[in-house]
Order: sequence, then structure tokens, then C-alpha cells
Amino acid sequence: MAAQETVEHKYVYDFAEGNKDLKDLLGGKGANLAEMTNLGLPVPPGFTITTEACKAYLTTGREPDGLAGQIEAHLESLERAMDRRLGDPDDPLLVSVRSGAKFSMPGMMETVLNVGLNDRSVVGLSAQAGGNDRFAWDSYRRLIQMFGKTVCEVPGEEFEHALDEAKRAKGTKNDLDLDADDLRGLVDAYKQIFAKHTGREFPQEPREQLDLAIRAVFDSWNAERAILYRRQERIPADLGTAVNVVSMVFGNLGPDSGTGVAFTRDPGSGAQGIYGDYLANAQGEDVVAGIRNTVPLQELERLDKTSYDQLLGIMARLEEHYKDLCDIEFTIERGKLWMLQTRVGKRTAAAAFVIAGQLVDEGLIDLDEALHRVNGAQLAQLMFPRFQLDHDFQPVATGIGASPGAASGKVVFTSARAVELAAEGEAVILVRRETNPDDLNGMIAAKGILTSRGGKTSHAAVVARGMGKTCVSGADEIEVNVPAKTFTVGGHTVGEGDVVSIDGTTGKVYLGEVPVMPSEVVQYFEGSLDPEHIDNPLVRAVHRIMTHADAARRLRVRTNADTGADAARARRFGAEGIGLCRTEHMFLGDRRELVERLILASGEREREDALAALLPLQRADFVEIFREMDGLPVTVRLIDPPLHEFLPPLEQLAVNVAVAQERGEDVAKEEALLSAVRRMHEENPMLGLRGVRLGLVIPGLFAMQVRAIAEAAVAVVRDGGRACPEIMVPLVGAVQELETVRAEAEKIIAEVVGDSGVEVLIGTMIEVPRAALTAGQIAEAAEFFSFGTNDLTQMGWGFSRDDVEGAFFWRYLELGIFGISPFESIDADGVGRLVRIAAEEGRAARPGLKLGVCGEHGGDPDSVHFFHEVGLDYVSCSPFRVPVARLEAGRAAISTTGSDSR
Ligand code: ADP
Ligand code: MG
Ligand code: MG
Repeated sequence: MAAQETVEHKYVYDFAEGNKDLKDLLGGKGANLAEMTNLGLPVPPGFTITTEACKAYLTTGREPDGLAGQIEAHLESLERAMDRRLGDPDDPLLVSVRSGAKFSMPGMMETVLNVGLNDRSVVGLSAQAGGNDRFAWDSYRRLIQMFGKTVCEVPGEEFEHALDEAKRAKGTKNDLDLDADDLRGLVDAYKQIFAKHTGREFPQEPREQLDLAIRAVFDSWNAERAILYRRQERIPADLGTAVNVVSMVFGNLGPDSGTGVAFTRDPGSGAQGIYGDYLANAQGEDVVAGIRNTVPLQELERLDKTSYDQLLGIMARLEEHYKDLCDIEFTIERGKLWMLQTRVGKRTAAAAFVIAGQLVDEGLIDLDEALHRVNGAQLAQLMFPRFQLDHDFQPVATGIGASPGAASGKVVFTSARAVELAAEGEAVILVRRETNPDDLNGMIAAKGILTSRGGKTSHAAVVARGMGKTCVSGADEIEVNVPAKTFTVGGHTVGEGDVVSIDGTTGKVYLGEVPVMPSEVVQYFEGSLDPEHIDNPLVRAVHRIMTHADAARRLRVRTNADTGADAARARRFGAEGIGLCRTEHMFLGDRRELVERLILASGEREREDALAALLPLQRADFVEIFREMDGLPVTVRLIDPPLHEFLPPLEQLAVNVAVAQERGEDVAKEEALLSAVRRMHEENPMLGLRGVRLGLVIPGLFAMQVRAIAEAAVAVVRDGGRACPEIMVPLVGAVQELETVRAEAEKIIAEVVGDSGVEVLIGTMIEVPRAALTAGQIAEAAEFFSFGTNDLTQMGWGFSRDDVEGAFFWRYLELGIFGISPFESIDADGVGRLVRIAAEEGRAARPGLKLGVCGEHGGDPDSVHFFHEVGLDYVSCSPFRVPVARLEAGRAAISTTGSDSR
């Protein structure tokens, strides 16, 4: 036997052989049962069948060679340890067969309790329990129920109905009122249901029960709901599940027995204390199933002080061992405590920060580890305004928090109505069964979107996230009736115009308007809460961890800001410069008229006049921004969008001209405008006359902007301030384009700057794939690169950003072509590769070349890690994302050895 086992692959591990770091092989549940066993905690003996066995089974459709023998051997040693045999009619060993994958997938896969019971051993079990017939028959009926449902796909309701029927016959609503005879009768009823659906008798052979249950756990990995859950949580599809076979302990032996769940801290707020529920005389799932009312765990102190004290001791021990919040399952069998599960518990965003901070205080972890345990997505969540729920607001439905935020508004059921009401200045919530591309206008108009179907990758969810709009999807308690313009939920009927509130973080839906309060975390970032002097544990924890992130990070964080006000706000959020100052808005508002003159200019003279009029306006804008950023670098992008974007749309203009002509008015100016718009009309404006191309075609345009920048910098410096302008040329694809612009710009700068000491850098955006691939050449003419990852993604994939998210991204996500929109998180393999090539070849040509990224990826957690790894100098993102980028840049910089933060 021993010789044979050395050549055979090991598929089965005794609990004593595993440990918590073997989650890949033993699953989370198995690894932690092993860990607790080795800590000497009271865990019922058992063994774990590995995920490798599961994977082998799932690929070949049969159990791998050697598995059956190894199970046999481990079962034998379990029987020896327990001094009982599986299925022994007089003194049976019973086991549970429990799924457990690497990542917890709550409720997705199956567990079967009481395996080993049959018509004979049920009698032995009763004797074992001191003649407790009721207990034995209750255990047996549970086995048939769980086995039938899980292993043989018997519809669960059939068993539920039979149970209800038995209770009705007895005139009770409580399971506990059913006596041994009632339960024996129920076992007969269950067996009939089983036989009817499976065409066979309930298996009496214990080993057959065991093998079928193990196989069912393997199969449950590929159950439809498990597949959907994994896709949503981005858990890889090929991990497989382990199977744990655990000797049964019984919480349903009477009032001195029971079962419970507990957390070592509050997973909602992170507060210290004991949080849990306990149910006397109950088995397994009863606690969470809500059949009977549980009591708070503290009650256990009164019911069974010895077990309670022991449990608290174990919880403290587990926290100290795992150095984190643990959640546990336990059972008390006649006054003896058994630990059935533990894991590092899930928690809210706020609790994640608070707990990490507390654990540092308690000396259990250091600040690096605390930083590792929180993430930017959580921080972003904490920065959204929240509903103030201290009044009587109860949710009427809970869906999926698909896109965070808190939104209240009048209910509308059609896109058209959303647009109408929004135009009247109303806040509206668009309610649909599910949305489709036709709803796009309504979604844009609405403050929030609520659907009764669909998950995190549904059309509504994907589009709303892309727009940064609050969305709750898949609130399936809601029944939407579009023709009647109503929805019903829990007895309420809500009509068009009624107000609802939706929370895109928690997925909760409320009737009426819930008041909103600003986030304390934002108040802290804005400087109105002093972390040293306020008694808010969350703010203190955020402060502490952010301070550490700032000290640890190598990446600088800049912001995208076009106005002095944005710049000032971003600075308070910790921005260390502006990475993208767009100049487009400086051509809007009352300046439109000047732009029209520029475009319609019939000669050099007129054009120069228009530019000369624009110059002081632009200069004033830059002065304001340079002042706000005093001494920090400001990257100004020369005008990028096509000029006709500054003119009225073609259709509107054509109608105006026609109407005016009809009336016999003088339309010479409008006609000129119309013909200019016609002339400049492009089929693919994103690929047309924009960016550097515009600068090369319209004489004097870039020169005016360069002059405005240089003059503004000089003015600020003359006033005693500091200005560090960086001029960025957009959409460059060839070094010759940049060289041409540069030659002209350098002349102007030299002339304006004189001996003022102002230094102006000239660089380019890398946003056209050709630029990335010829970065070595382009670096000869650029003092810095800033990756425009929005355009680079658009041109790298050939995706029209404004169209694809609404049109088909939901389908791509559903199919898993990508797990997240490449506009949200950088596509490291493709677009990221362009960034990497350009960074390497650019730096090879010009050592010390400054490298940054602007565009929304700069504030996306995963992307920030990628940019750190590629070696960029900074990321730049919208002001609100600056703290997220700071945190993630810190996390990217610390070496991570700790646990998975999933
Ligand atoms: P889940 O992963 O859904 O929590 P579990 O495998 O933990 O499923 O089991 C479901 C329930 O059965 C839990 O309450 C668990 O504590 C209980 N349970 C599992 N194994 C045993 C056992 N050997 N003895 C008593 N109760 C058990
Ligand atoms: Mg469990
Ligand atoms: Mg661009």
C-alpha cells in the first residue's frame, strides 16, 4: 500500500496534513479546517479531497485513478479515530460532504449532511443519542431532503411541501413540534418523492451515498448559478472545488445543543465586539435559513456559559492567528463546542479601513499590511454621498449595486419621458425591466437607473458605470408594468412621478426621498475634518493609511483640471500637478463668436485679428491655473477637437438658414457659417482634422496658444509666483509633426520668456498606435510623453468610445471577451503593450524622458498598478479620483506577501 501511494498522485489530505496556505489545493474551507485542527481547536475529524481531483473529474467525466482507494483509506482511518463505522446499524459514523473552493462562493455549491443514515442505522443513531428517536428521524429526513435535492436534482419545493403538510396535519408552524412518529412518516413521504423523481429507491448503501455526494459536489462547480456568480465576481472558471468529508456533530440533540455563526468584529462598521447568531436545538443551515428566530450570540452566555467562554477564547485566538476579522460556524453538541468553519470574513468598505487601522493599533499587523488590506475601489465607495438612513427608511427591494452613488427622483418608465422631465429640471429615476441601446438618451437624462432584471454585466449596469451614473440592477422583487406605467413591490404600487431613492452601492431601493449626506471621507480630504481631533474611527483610519500610501508610493499623482477651481480642489485632494489641462473650454461660451470669426476668416488679416482677440483671454485662464498650482507642473494640451465642434450643428444651422430665407431676412452670415460647417463635415471626426493636424493646417492657432502659456507663466513669475508649464501636442503620429510644431513654439517661447527664468517643456501625447511604435524617434523631439489611453484604446481596438458601450459591450462582457471594459481598466495585453513599448523605446532614446498618463485609466486601481510596473513617473486623473490613485500607487509600491484581498 505504502509503495503504491508513493507513485500515485495524492488526492486526499487528512485535516492534520493541511494548512491555511493550501487554498488552491484544499479550497478555503478545507485549508482553514486543517489550520484550526493544527491549532488544536475542537474540529470534528475529517479529510479533504483536492481541487485537482475535481478538475480531473470535470475534464474526463470520471473520478481519477486512485481516488477511490485513497478515499477508502482515509475513511478507514476516520472510522478508527471515531471508533465508529459508516453505516453501522448499531453505532453509525455519519459525515457531512461539503464543497469548498479557493474563493468563497456563498450558497453557490452544495453540502450534504448526515451521510451514512439508512433504514437500519437510523435506529443505531437513536440508541447512540440515548434513545432520542426524534433526533434520529429528524436527521434521516434531512439527509433524504439534502441528498435528493443536491445529488439527484429532486425539486426542493416537493420536500418543503411535504414538511408543511406534516406541520399542518399537526396544527403547528414549528418544526420542533413534530415528534418522532411524525418524522418517521415524513421520511416515508420523502422516500416516495425521491423514488418518483429519480426512478429508484433512496440509496441505502452508505458508501454509495458518500460517492454520489462527492460527485455532486464536483458537478456543482459547473452549475449555472455558480458559473454566473464566478463571472460576476471575476473568479477564474478553472479552479474547481475541493470536497470536505467531516464527521457529523449534532446541534439538534436537544436544548443543550445548538448551532451558530459569529464574526470577531462587526463586518459592517469594523467596531470591536462579538457579533453573531445562535439557534438552540438546530442543525446546520437552520441558522441562516430563517426558519426559526435566532438569538444574539450574547444570549449563549446565559444558556451555556462554559461553551460561550470557550468560544470567545477561540475567537480571540483565531483573530490573533489570522491577524484579521474572522467569521466562523460552530455547533454545540450537548454542551461540547465544535468548530465547523472559519475564514477571513467579508466586510464593507468602511469596515475594511477601520479594521486595518485597529489591527495596526493592536500590533497585529504593520502599516504595509494595513495598506495591502484596503483598496481603491473601497475608498471610491466611501467618497460617494450616502443616504442618511437614521429615520424610518426601510428598503422595499434589494438588487445588485451596479454603479455606486445615491440618487432620488421621480419614477419614469420610458426613455422619452425621462428626457422630457429632465428637460423641465426634474430629477428622474428611469425604471425598466432591463435596458437596451434605445434607452440611452433616457439613461443620460436620468439621475439613476433601476432595473428588475440583469446583473453586474447587464446593459444597464455597464452603461451606467461608463457614465458614472447611479444604478441598481436586477431588483427582482420589483414587478415592472411599462404599459400601465407602474411597478409593484411588496404590496406597494409606484406610478410615474412618484419619488424613489436608489443606492447603487448597496443595491437597496427606498420609497420616497431619502436625504443625502456628504461623505466624511470627502470632508476629510477637503480639509474640513481634522483627523487628529475628531472621534470618527473611519476618518482616522483613512488618514493613517493614506499617509502611509503617500510615503510608500513612487508614482506621482496629478489631476486633469481645466479651471482654477478644479485645480484648487484637486490640490486639496493631494494632486501634485496637472497632467492634463484641456484648452477646449477656452473656446466656448462668449468666446464662440471669436472662434466663428477665426473659422470664417477670409484672409490672413481677419484670422490674425481673431487670434489676437483670443490671446488675452487664454492668457488669463492660464494665469489663474498657474497661480493655483504654484510651483507644481501644469501640462497644457494644445487644442485637440475638430474646430467644427465649436460651431452649431449642421442640421440646426440648415433649418435656421431656410427659415430665415423664407422670411426674407438677411442670412449672409449664417450662410457663410453653414457652408463652413459643410466644408468641415467629416465622416469620422475622431480620425479627422483634429489635434496636431489642426495646428499644422490653421496658421497661428498653436502659436497663439503657446504665446498665451508662456506669457501667463512669465506674468505669474513676475508677480513672485512659480509656474512650471509643459506644453503638450496632441495626436502626434510622426516625429515630423512634432518637430514642425516645436520649431515654431521654441521661437515664441524664447522671445516671450527672455531672462524671466521661466522654463517651458515641450512634449507630446502618445495616443495614436503609430506614435507608440515609433516612440524612439518621437522622443528625440519630446521632453515628455503623456499616454492618452482613451484614444490609444479607441484606436488600438478600433472601438468608437461614444458608441460601443451602449451598443454591444454588455454582450462582450457576458461572453467574457473581456472581464471589464477596456475604457475602464487598461487592456494590459494589447493597449498596455503599446504603452510598454513606447516607455522603453522612448527612454532608450532619451534617458530621463518624463512619462505620465492622462485619461480616466489614471484613476483606475488595476491600471495604476500596471503603470507603476511599467515605470511611469506619474498618473493623472479627475480630481475625485486623486485619492484613489494615491492609495493604489502606494499599494503597488509595497511588496505584497499577505493574503488575497478578494
Ligand atoms: P456553506 O459553505 O454553504 O456554509 P457548509 O459546508 O459550511 O456550507 O455547511 C452547511 C451547514 O452545515 C453549516 O451550517 C455547517 O456548519 C453545517 N455542517 C457542515 N458540516 C457539519 C458537520 N460535520 N457537523 C455538523 N454540522 C455541519
Ligand atoms: Mg459554511
Ligand atoms: Mg486624445
